[in-house]
Amino acid sequence: MSPILVRLNQVRQRMQVAALRAGRNPQDVQLLAVTKTVPVEAITPVVAAGVDMLGESRVQELTAKIPQFPNHIQWHMIGTLQSRKVKSIANKTALIHSLDRLALAEEINKWGQHWGKAVACLVEVNVAEEPTKHGIVPHEALGFIETLAQMPGIAVCGLMTMAPYCDDPEEVRHVFRDLRRLADRVTNKGFPNVSMQHLSMGMSNDFEVAIEEGATIVRIGSEIFGERN
Ligand SMILES: *Cc1c(COP(=O)(O)O)cnc(C)c1O
Repeated sequence: MSPILVRLNQVRQRMQVAALRAGRNPQDVQLLAVTKTVPVEAITPVVAAGVDMLGESRVQELTAKIPQFPNHIQWHMIGTLQSRKVKSIANKTALIHSLDRLALAEEINKWGQHWGKAVACLVEVNVAEEPTKHGIVPHEALGFIETLAQMPGIAVCGLMTMAPYCDDPEEVRHVFRDLRRLADRVTNKGFPNVSMQHLSMGMSNDFEVAIEEGATIVRIGSEIFGERN
């Protein structure tokens, strides 16, 4: 078996063990394989092994890869999205994970209405309030989501966060816990057109802790495909 498939199997196994450890159904946690910078030849075997959700962080790479894969693949936009590029991707992606500001929301809403659909988005939250990271700060999240709830071209489906990098993932457990608590508060508000179905949290370095804290989507790149250059 190729090294990539060996690593994929290990990741799947570890996801399952983490879910069971937390008393969760492993089927409630989806693997999003993050394929940025990974060539198509290296991704194809992973798709053949049943992975059907792929994540990219750049619009150009995303639009170049889409036609090279079967139609059943769900494409997720996980990186910073510039407003002017919404038009070229928002009707091709299953989920945008990086909705973090009003100007972007207005553009997505505009195109969603133009296409006659509600574009599925997660609100990216900068839980740790790191100055170098994107995402709305936690105390502004409820107000932002209340505004999004008024936009017929957007369907808010949950929250996304990136935890600070730490050698010991236990140190960022509180970040994942805080995101889940925020999702609970949003749910309690009962905003229209807003669901907290998804918590997109956990990457190669910390996905097991994120699953224990309630992740429904983990975004994993290097642990499957190897270190990026
Ligand atoms: C690159 C990236 C990932 C995957 O990171 P790994 O550490 O390689 O698993 C996940 N989420 C986002 C937003 C990314 O940009």
